[in-house]
Amino acid sequence: MQKTLPFDSATLQRILDEYPTPFYLYDEAGIRERMRDLVQAFSWNKGFRQYFAVKATPNPRIVSLLRDEGSGADCSSMAELVISERIGLEGESIMFTSNNTTAEEYKYALDLGAIINLDHPNLIDTLLAAGDMPKTISFRYNPGPERTGNAIIGNPQEAKFGCTRKQLLEGYKRCQELGATHFGLHTMVVSNELGVQSLLDTAQMLFDLAILIKDELGIEIKFINLGGGIGVGYRPEDDEVNLADFGAGVHQLYEKVLVPAGLSPRIFMENGRTITGPFGFLISRVINQKQTYKDYVGVDACMSNLMRPGMYGAYHHITVMGKEGQSATKSVDVVGALCENNDKLAIDRQLPEVVVGDVLVIHDAGAHGHAMGFQYNGRLRCAELLLKPDGEVEQIRRAETLEDYFATVKF
Ligand SMILES: *Cc1c(COP(=O)(O)O)cnc(C)c1O
Repeated sequence: MQKTLPFDSATLQRILDEYPTPFYLYDEAGIRERMRDLVQAFSWNKGFRQYFAVKATPNPRIVSLLRDEGSGADCSSMAELVISERIGLEGESIMFTSNNTTAEEYKYALDLGAIINLDHPNLIDTLLAAGDMPKTISFRYNPGPERTGNAIIGNPQEAKFGCTRKQLLEGYKRCQELGATHFGLHTMVVSNELGVQSLLDTAQMLFDLAILIKDELGIEIKFINLGGGIGVGYRPEDDEVNLADFGAGVHQLYEKVLVPAGLSPRIFMENGRTITGPFGFLISRVINQKQTYKDYVGVDACMSNLMRPGMYGAYHHITVMGKEGQSATKSVDVVGALCENNDKLAIDRQLPEVVVGDVLVIHDAGAHGHAMGFQYNGRLRCAELLLKPDGEVEQIRRAETLEDYFATVKF
């Protein structure tokens, strides 16, 4: 089975003539269209807002093209707040969903007027050390044994995020006493989820909880943040989540559960993966081959460019440029140069016959790809390029140099 590419060989060759491998290539048209599809799927909810999870692809150009499509930013660190600020987002266009947070970070978020999404009521004091209780406040719920989570994010009972139901209620109460008047509810329990029903279960759980909060505390939740976590069909045979079906499913639950209870909150989401994941490609070249107990294809990218296979055993589809139509001839491990045996971008992968110099396109690397990059073994982070709808290419992040690498040490 094959996966389609948003560019042809000639376009890629033109880019390769100008930029050395490895690099990331993002498809602007695809990202914009996906964002529009999400907004369309929730157009029934007048206050709907998607906050792009900046950590997925923390490139200012990517975040700003999403801002142009109406996206806010979901941040969890100082650097992510700074990216959002520098591209002109502020106020309720920023959601600060952090955990294990410092007062310094809260101060920055408060100064930007960001919506603060507290991980736990213990953090109220940390927040107060940074400034006054804001009018708007949100909490992150962890359902514990109520839900099973999934492979990437783990079981909620084992997850460090969020707080229990009892803590949640105490948290709202205390914030109300401190002057908050506008309340939000959030959770994030699944990651890379392809099952619409599981995503809908999260909505149902939060809707029920909003009713409980109203009954117990008399507080009307004004926005419900369903989190991110919509999956990407990494394997060619995977079904993608149909955003229209998902949006319609949430609409049905909204009408069935919330409306009769007299609640009409805004729906928020903070997707990263589904927005940029399928529209980013790691482009790499074959530089060595060897045959020992297995067949190895050595490329000029490595796990420090794309950690997901090494970290989660994740599958990323690979297309050999110019050999798309050829059938697989053998099973190979595609490896980088790190002195670390899990530096494998693919294991036992069926590929057509490759030779040194061939270009491999590694699919679905647009989210949690470059972002998770690191410099182990002195391997430097590669460039990021944006393929624009008119076919032009813009370098949106240059490759790191040895000078960057040594900038923080003394000899
Ligand atoms: C990582 C994360 C997201 C984004 O997850 P995706 O799988 O990229 O959609 C959203 N919200 C929170 C709190 C996160 O930690």
